[in-house]
Amino acid sequence: MTKITFLGSGGGRFMAITQKRGTGGFYVEDRINIHVDPGPGAHLRAIQNDLDPKKTNALLISHCHTDHFNDVPIMIESMTGGMLKKEGCIIGSKSVIEGRDEYASIIFPYYRKNLKSIISLQPKEFFDIKGQRIEALKTKHSDPYGIGFKIFTDSGIISYTSDTEYFNGMEAQYMGSRVMILNVTRPNGDKIPFHLSSDAAVTILEKVKPEVAVITHIGYKMHIKGAEEERKYIEAKSGVKTLIADEGLKIYMNGRLTYQETVK
Ligand SMILES: [Zn+2]
Repeated sequence: MTKITFLGSGGGRFMAITQKRGTGGFYVEDRINIHVDPGPGAHLRAIQNDLDPKKTNALLISHCHTDHFNDVPIMIESMTGGMLKKEGCIIGSKSVIEGRDEYASIIFPYYRKNLKSIISLQPKEFFDIKGQRIEALKTKHSDPYGIGFKIFTDSGIISYTSDTEYFNGMEAQYMGSRVMILNVTRPNGDKIPFHLSSDAAVTILEKVKPEVAVITHIGYKMHIKGAEEERKYIEAKSGVKTLIADEGLKIYMNGRLTYQETVK
């Protein structure tokens, strides 16, 4: 059984600052335990949702923006048992791992000595950890080295767009996904560069047709306007069951997908 736990549906600077929606990324338990984009609050929210950061095997960091990498240092300290063992793998963009342009590497030498592997990927490259394949996907974002991820689990493919704007043909790289996680920052008709809006999500989902879509990285404007309306719009237009990545949402993958939404 493969399990995904979401640690909040927020994204962007103002959501990260205010924490109206969590910015903890999401957690995949399959052959290995993977935490994707541990933004501000990820460590605390993981513990509050019965996940054990000490048991994480890999961190996936899509790009070098605070709402995606903030909790990486404490996650490394957890994975390495308080920096007492050599354990854990980090997979990230060139900007995250090596530093590029105005971004320095966020993986300090202090942490590197206790990590088993530190891998930078560009789109179409992949890395296998204990038979778990992780592929980097192309994005168009203000960190030009940003990548999305395709995680090949024993129960099928999970795709994550990360932060990106819509570009022609982008759907091809998500084909075959059972679960698709989309960073939808803006509501329908309110486009900004480098991010997806609800109408772009519909265009992608109509082509990819995953079994379930999860929208996350909801920005402040979309939060104020009403994310639930946008979720309904995306679901109705695309014909794909769509959920919001509320903190505590769990998706179980094996035969039929099941999900358990949080009790509000
Ligand atoms: Zn970003």
